Amino acid sequence: MSFQDIKGQDRPIQIIKEHLRQSRLSRAYLFTGPEGIGKRLVAKTLAKVVNCQEGSIDSCDKCASCLKIDKNAHPDVHCIDTQDSDSIKIEYIRNLQREINLKPYEARLKVFIIDNAHSLTAEAENSILKVLEEPPANSLIILVSAKPMLLFKTIISRCQTIKFYSLAKARLEEILKKDYSLGDTLAHFLAYFCEGRLGECLRLKDTDIIQEKNRIIDALSGLEKSGLDSITIQDRKQIRYYLNILAGWFRDIYLVKTGLIHQELINLDRKKELLRLMQNFSFSGLDEIFNSITSALSYLEQNVNIKLLLLTLREEISYGTQRTTVNSY
Ligand SMILES: [Zn+2]
Repeated sequence: MSFQDIKGQDRPIQIIKEHLRQSRLSRAYLFTGPEGIGKRLVAKTLAKVVNCQEGSIDSCDKCASCLKIDKNAHPDVHCIDTQDSDSIKIEYIRNLQREINLKPYEARLKVFIIDNAHSLTAEAENSILKVLEEPPANSLIILVSAKPMLLFKTIISRCQTIKFYSLAKARLEEILKKDYSLGDTLAHFLAYFCEGRLGECLRLKDTDIIQEKNRIIDALSGLEKSGLDSITIQDRKQIRYYLNILAGWFRDIYLVKTGLIHQELINLDRKKELLRLMQNFSFSGLDEIFNSITSALSYLEQNVNIKLLLLTLREEISYGTQRTTVNSY
């Protein structure tokens, strides 16, 4: 994928292209911004551009160099994801220290992309810092991080920071419809549920997320009387995702109660039901429910029985609803 194919990150791409055009590319960049919005993709595309045999300010995606980088098979372009175990992190960086001082095998610039750079151990960060103090010629280092505040300040000061932002949700909905041919319901739900993160939308677009999220809402909010049987319970990560879907549902009920514009609803596909259900909830009852979901999310980090946690949450939600009926306003 070339710069011109990447959607919704026009501003950072424009800055990078300007650096390329003026031949003042930095030796080290730090790409920051929320998860799932295309930072790593832009980093990889930059690796292609600086080595593209066409020599333009965008990748051709056809030359031998571009094709190798696309297949992660270029000997001079290294992508490191630091979410592995600590010992591997420092090994990666030691390897980088060795590699970066060697002449490129075939590229103009050796490129090292370090994704989730904030997960580096202190030892690994110190090693990177040494490289950043005197980056060799013919090299380019790109750190990618959604949490740059966790990086050493000395590292940040040695990189040129480029900020990436989530897309406006309405704009993302348009992109999903126009460029990815998604239907109205799916495009709207993904744009609002994923909060403007295109990468996350693309990860979910080919799943049956609309049916799944509705199943989760019905089972956990108590709309489905049969309980939790209709949902699968696997691991904590999956339950966190369920709880976010549930929080989105009650956020929507809150929004319709305040009379805000309906286009902002995550679950626009169930608008009629939301308008009907809002009468069953007071604002204080909804606050109780939000507190219960927040507590469940924090208990999830501890070693609790997941099924019991969800059953308790369901009961608390039903209590929140009853409380509302008693105090109804
Ligand atoms: Zn090329």
